[in-house]
Amino acid sequence: MVSTFPGLYSISIFRFYDIFKFSNFQIFKFYHMVATKSMKEITQAAWVKRPLIISGPCSAETEEQVMQTAIQLQGTGKVDVMRAGIWKPRTRPGSFEGIGTKGLPWLQKAREITGIPVAVEVATAKQVEDALHFDVDILWIGARTTVNPFSVQDVADALRGVDVPVLIKNPINPDLELWIGAVERVAKAGIKQIGLIHRGFSSYGNSEYRNAPMWHLAIEMKRRHPGMLFINDPSHICGRRDILQEVAQTAIDLDFDGLIIESHIDPDKAWSDAKQQITPARLGEMMSAIRWRKEDVASEEYHANLEKLRQQINQLDDELMQIIGERMKISEKIGQYKKDNNITILQTNRWNAILERAFKKGDKLGLSQEFITKYFDAVHMESINHQNKIMNS
Ligand code: PEP
Ligand code: MN
Repeated sequence: MVSTFPGLYSISIFRFYDIFKFSNFQIFKFYHMVATKSMKEITQAAWVKRPLIISGPCSAETEEQVMQTAIQLQGTGKVDVMRAGIWKPRTRPGSFEGIGTKGLPWLQKAREITGIPVAVEVATAKQVEDALHFDVDILWIGARTTVNPFSVQDVADALRGVDVPVLIKNPINPDLELWIGAVERVAKAGIKQIGLIHRGFSSYGNSEYRNAPMWHLAIEMKRRHPGMLFINDPSHICGRRDILQEVAQTAIDLDFDGLIIESHIDPDKAWSDAKQQITPARLGEMMSAIRWRKEDVASEEYHANLEKLRQQINQLDDELMQIIGERMKISEKIGQYKKDNNITILQTNRWNAILERAFKKGDKLGLSQEFITKYFDAVHMESINHQNKIMNS
C-alpha cells in the first residue's frame, strides 16, 4: 500500500503529526522515517525506469508556483522526478540567484501531494546539508560546479556516509577529464548511485544552441561509463523552445536513458531561463510525440538483418581506408616532386579548389558542408604530414 499510494500515504502521515503539532518528537521521527523510506523506494524505482523523465522549473520561485507546477506535471502522467533550482549559479550578478533554503519545504510539500521524488542542484557542502535536511531525494551537480575540482570535492566530502543518488552534469567546457574526475570524486565519497547529465558545452559567440551538444563527447562519456544512468538536458542545450523536441528526439535515438526538461506554469514570466521553459501540458505533448526506441529487441530476423548491414559498413570502411592510404601515397609522390623543385607544401589556392569541388559533389550526395570541411581538414593534415616527412627526409 505504501508504494501504491505514496502521495496519499505521506499526506496522512503529515496530517497525523500536524495534529500533534510536533509535540511528540519520537512519534514524528518514527513516522518520518517510514515516510522517507517509502520515498526512497519510489526514488529507486524512478532511478531504474527507462526512459527516466525529470521535469520542473529552472528555479523554485514561490510556493504557489512550485505546487501548481508539481500538480500539473503529475497530471501529465509522464514525469518520474521533479526538478527545481533552489540555489542558482548565475553567470552575471544581479539576476535572480535562487530562493534559497526557504524553498526546500515547498518541494517537500509538492512531493507529499504528488508522491513524485524531488531533485535539486547543490554546489557547496552547506547546500548538501540543507537539501538532505529537507529530505531531497536526488541531488545534482551543475555544469559550473563540475568544472571546479575544489567545489566538487567540497560537495563530495559533504556526501560521505550519505545514501542519496547524485547526477553529475558535464562541465561547461568540453573537457571529458573534468567530468570523469567529478564522477570519481563522488564515487570515492561512497555514493553508489551516480548518473550523468549531458547539457551541452558553452562556446563563444552566436550559435544555433545555447550550449553546443557535441554529441561525440557524450557518446565517448557513455562508452567510458557503460551501465551508468545517462540522461540528456535539451533545455540547457537549446536555450529556446522551438528546437527542444528535435534535440530530445536525437538524444533518444542515441540511446540516452532519459531526459531532464525545464517546465513552468507560466514560462514567459519565469525568473530564470524563461526562453527555454515550457508548460507542463506542452511537456506532456512532447513526451507523447517522441519516438521511443529500444536499444535491443529479441527478434532473430532483426539481428540477422542488422548484422548484414553492419558487415556492409565494415566493408565500406575498409575500402575507404584503403583508398585514403592510396591517396597518401600520391601525396608523398607530390612531396617528392615539390622537394625536387624546391616548392612549399601548403598552396592555399589548391586547397580552396579542393574544398569548392568537394562542397559541390558533397551536396549532391547529401553530405553537409560541415562534414566535408571536417573530413577534408583531417585528410589534408594527414597529407601534409606525409609530404613533410618526404621533404625533410
Ligand atoms: C539548471 O539545471 O538549471 C542549471 C543551472 O543547469 P546547468 O548547470 O546545466 O547550467
Ligand atoms: Mn535553468
